[in-house]
Amino acid sequence: MIANAKGNCIFSWNFIKIMMLSIHSDDYFMKEAFREATFAAENGEVPVGAVIVCDNRIIARGSNRTEQLGDITAHAEIIAITAAADFLGSKYLTDCTLYVTLEPCSMCAGALYWSQISRVVYGASDEKRGFMKFGKALLHPQTKLSYGVMEADCRQLLQDFFSHKRG
Ligand SMILES: [Zn+2]
Repeated sequence: MIANAKGNCIFSWNFIKIMMLSIHSDDYFMKEAFREATFAAENGEVPVGAVIVCDNRIIARGSNRTEQLGDITAHAEIIAITAAADFLGSKYLTDCTLYVTLEPCSMCAGALYWSQISRVVYGASDEKRGFMKFGKALLHPQTKLSYGVMEADCRQLLQDFFSHKRG
């Protein structure tokens, strides 16, 4: 914050920009992860999507592709982690945030541990297969965790997919 000649407080553009990004970024990026999840559903995959963000920019995207690739490890997070490492030319994602529509499973939490990612944000909880059953300790000690972003939408997408499959 700076003051102008009349002594009124005015905000610098950079300050406003930082405020706007910090207020909107989690929802904004989760919407992008959600888009990836809808692509997965269109391809008959369980709808889970992820993006990885570095410096407020999406550097990698992933959607669940286990059916298409015939590979049980082809979860959205694993695809995004590999793409982000490729983009950065670095195996560590220490300045990155992963947004994923569903709570990661323990396999993905393990991969996120090895990546040393700065932050993980997930939407819907997964009581059956989510890593939180084992506790946050599955993630790297440096990794910050947030959850519940767009939770209702992320959960609804999965419920619609499974009820459509059953019906
Ligand atoms: Zn997983």
